[in-house]
Amino acid sequence: MIDPKQIAACVVGAVDWQTEVSGFCRCPGEALHTHKTGKKDCRVSVDGAPTIYCFHSSCAPAVTVANHKLRCAIGQNPWELKLPGGMLLRNGDVLQAGGAVLPREVVQARARAEGRDAGEQLALETLRAVAERFKPELFESFRWPFAQIIEDSPLLVSERDAEDQFRTWLRLWPAHCHVWIGDVYSSGRPEHRTHFRPVAEWYQIGPAMGNFTCGAAFKPGSYQRSNANCDGTRFLVVESDTLAKDEVGAIFAYLNRRLRFNLHAIIDTAGKSLHGWFDAPRSPRIEAQLKAVLTVFGCDPKLFTYSQPVRVPGAWRDGKLQRIIWLRS
Ligand SMILES: [Zn+2]
Repeated sequence: MIDPKQIAACVVGAVDWQTEVSGFCRCPGEALHTHKTGKKDCRVSVDGAPTIYCFHSSCAPAVTVANHKLRCAIGQNPWELKLPGGMLLRNGDVLQAGGAVLPREVVQARARAEGRDAGEQLALETLRAVAERFKPELFESFRWPFAQIIEDSPLLVSERDAEDQFRTWLRLWPAHCHVWIGDVYSSGRPEHRTHFRPVAEWYQIGPAMGNFTCGAAFKPGSYQRSNANCDGTRFLVVESDTLAKDEVGAIFAYLNRRLRFNLHAIIDTAGKSLHGWFDAPRSPRIEAQLKAVLTVFGCDPKLFTYSQPVRVPGAWRDGKLQRIIWLRS
């Protein structure tokens, strides 16, 4: 196996590698530059479709020829790259735990489907594979069963009555926020405007007017629960359809203790699952990474659709109370 970085160096000369897969090099068409050449004007990357990219445009013909040479050379030689966590990239394929292979074409197709560049997609796929490997350890070392969560709550809330549960939950929100509460279909027509109210108003009204809410607040005047109507204030509500109440706590603990995401509350949905209410990720990049990892751990990817309905504390479901069982102080 040859390192693709060596192949690249044969084509473009010495490379100042900035990451495992990309670095600065001398432009193959430098002689054609009509402006002063800087050290970081030309970059070569060997993942996805190997590419030389130069900041100048006058050198384009020479760069095109060199790109062709680079792609042929890398395409003809089997190569592999070792990544952190024992992962391997081989000829553009990601080799995952257990020997499974994610072919380059799949990575490229997923990148196109998600509107990302191939390099970013490759980073996400690698993260996914690393998460897959870490999964057994996660459920072992961050184990946080249902009874323990209740016992660990900074504020004792699980025994409060319906009214109190609802008002306790409302206090997680800034008072001016417009929050939706209703049933899944209480949205979409002007008469549904009564389901979108400022927190302070809900506080006066109580009890909960339906079994659901959203992790996001809405613009004043909204009557439709859509991402476009969200006002930017939001929680990340982590849930899983597959993990039991004694299992999902490990993910909450991992997010909170290891990744330092602020945990506000954990809600017992009065069904099979628990919901963790966290601060939302600060950037789309972190959000994409979190989504990749959480999906591997067994969480529902639709939790990143912020207008998705989730269970509101203080409402009854088949005779059982939807309630907060853990609350930050
Ligand atoms: Zn150039």
